[in-house]
Amino acid sequence: MKIPLPDRLDRFVGCTIAGGLVVLAVLVALGAPAMGRDVQVSHLLLAAALFPSEMLPIVLSRRGKDTDLITMSTTYAFALTLIAPVLFVVLVQCTAVAFDGLRRGSSRRKTVWNCSQYVLTLSVARAAYVLVDRRSFLFDGRPLTHGDLVAVLVAAIVYFLVNNGMTAAVVALADGQRILPALVEDAGFRLSIFGVLLGLAPVVVESVRLSAWLLPVVFFAVSAVRRSAALSLERERQSLHDALTGLPNRVLLDIECGKALQWAAQEDDCVALMIIDLDHFRDVNDTLGHHVGDALLLEVAERLRALVGTNDLVARLGGDEFGVLRRSPGQPDVLLREVERWLAELEQPYSVDGVRITVGASIGVAAAPADADDAQGLFQRADVALYGAKERRSSVVAYTVERDEHSVARLNLLAELRDGIERGELEVHYQPQCDCHTGALTGVEALVRWRHPSRGLLLPEEFILAAETTSLITALTTTVLDLALRQLAIWRLQGLDLTVAINVSARQMTDLDLPEAVQELLARHRIASSRLILEVTESSMMAHPTRTVAALSKLSELGVGLSIDDFGTGYSSLAYLNTLGPDELKIDRSFVIGMSPESSDAVIVRSIIELGHNLGLRVVAEGVETLAAWEVLRQLDCDIVQGYLLGRPMPGDRVLDWAVDNFVLPPRERILKGA
Ligand code: C2E
Ligand code: CA
Ligand code: CA
Repeated sequence: MKIPLPDRLDRFVGCTIAGGLVVLAVLVALGAPAMGRDVQVSHLLLAAALFPSEMLPIVLSRRGKDTDLITMSTTYAFALTLIAPVLFVVLVQCTAVAFDGLRRGSSRRKTVWNCSQYVLTLSVARAAYVLVDRRSFLFDGRPLTHGDLVAVLVAAIVYFLVNNGMTAAVVALADGQRILPALVEDAGFRLSIFGVLLGLAPVVVESVRLSAWLLPVVFFAVSAVRRSAALSLERERQSLHDALTGLPNRVLLDIECGKALQWAAQEDDCVALMIIDLDHFRDVNDTLGHHVGDALLLEVAERLRALVGTNDLVARLGGDEFGVLRRSPGQPDVLLREVERWLAELEQPYSVDGVRITVGASIGVAAAPADADDAQGLFQRADVALYGAKERRSSVVAYTVERDEHSVARLNLLAELRDGIERGELEVHYQPQCDCHTGALTGVEALVRWRHPSRGLLLPEEFILAAETTSLITALTTTVLDLALRQLAIWRLQGLDLTVAINVSARQMTDLDLPEAVQELLARHRIASSRLILEVTESSMMAHPTRTVAALSKLSELGVGLSIDDFGTGYSSLAYLNTLGPDELKIDRSFVIGMSPESSDAVIVRSIIELGHNLGLRVVAEGVETLAAWEVLRQLDCDIVQGYLLGRPMPGDRVLDWAVDNFVLPPRERILKGA
């Protein structure tokens, strides 16, 4: 039967403590009577040096956590093992450990375990020493000579193996690793440090025998070893950690991921990797400055660290990307629910430098061995899932094979779209917008289409979302703007004076290049800025109100109109409606499509129209499919209507005919006649 991990750790710790106590009891029984007589001044001096050295540790860290200390007292403890009564060494070392544990606030169990570890290490090392050297175990007053060198060496090796073996065993059991790999891990480093510390012991013994005054010199020499070891560890730590947040970096996560996978294979368990990416973080940097960006990343790191479990490894992968590695993640649906909670927490507003910032995030989840069997594969799968999450925006997505196929298809689509835009395959169709009362054509909404070389005419739903996850959306918007403004100039020549509404993605609302591009295109086609309306969805503006305000002010300076699209589906704070200063509210088509005078939709529509009018805004209703809906809108005093009832989106060259037809026979009559 397999013993569960925590139980194995408990058993090991319990056995060590019991062993330590038994040995200590034997040492006291045998050694106590003679100890007072045998202890010499040099022993007391070394004990005096041991105490402060115990407080000067080198900290070894694993998996981003400080797990284990190497203390400088090793030199003095080993020196005493060679010359002092063994009970004396053990008592001095244990007192120092207990004192240090108290000072650090370590748990009692940990301190008692550490003491037992020393009782065993020191007595076994002493036993090895006296066996080779044929000395008496409890105490032997003979001084060290060159003939004792082999015995000292054997004792040092035994000391190293027992001490480090026990530490490695505890770390391995706590982490669920095998003992041997844990022992081999940093074995080189440990060997070099212990080599020096143990090797200094005979030197210390001889120095103290020559003159007590040499002890301070020796003490500083030993301390220098610690300083240089700590420095080299710090350098190694820096190469494995992120300078800004102090979190492990991608390299360390990679290493730990490999170890976790090995562990999972041995234990028949799983490992999960979550990759977290902040949405629109670049905008924070661009609009509020890098120091705010950095401060925000620190806050995000802090929040993330508080959210994950104590055994999870949190790393910063670079930029605005973080990773969390979890061993034994349990049931997939339970894990996903937990990660969704992280997302909700991460999206709570941050207060940075007195500015309240909200950032969205997307999280991709992949697990091994289900999705991948090596670290590289696991990262790649989590990345694929992350892409899926980014497409849906602000969501958690777990990897599936279909998603991988989808992501290949998506990458192909993006490559094709890039070429398509260059080859001029984008078209714009225009949907009429009419005066709600007279039915006269006042403007159009520009709606993009892609004339795909093999798949025919594609609607925006097939490519906009993918384009929005990359910078392609900028090229797309600029192309649509260019085509629509050119068309507007042509209509003007034909005697049609219209406004054109262009859809702008959330991602671009904080793009400070957009106002410049708009200005340049308006000038090129000689279109007055008042003829152009930019439609931005409500939810995208509300997600980043502060940054959006900054970008919008530049656009409104140009005199371009701003419309809040899909109004009623987002979560506007009404206060922001004033700050953002839109010119128009566009009621979402879901409220309009099936509207009848008594429906609850009509109540919502009425409230939006009243709200818009009270704020001095124009109100547009889209999705007008029935005459009944139009009638309700007329009674509610809506300003503009748009929908299949009046006209479907059509190519630019058909708009003139449409306008003439409707001028000859106004839309209401035409529709009533069923023309
Ligand atoms: P939207 O801004 O809400 O655009 C209106 C959509 O509603 C259009 O679909 C239009 O054809 C459709 N529609 C109009 N009247 C009716 C109606 O009476 N009933 C119904 N059921 N639907 C109606 P389309 O052209 O497929 O566009 C879909 C979405 O794609 C747009 O939603 C807009 O968010 C996005 N989009 C379109 N063109 C662009 C563009 O150039 N740039 C960006 N960023 N997004 C665009
Ligand atoms: Ca729109
Ligand atoms: Ca809309």
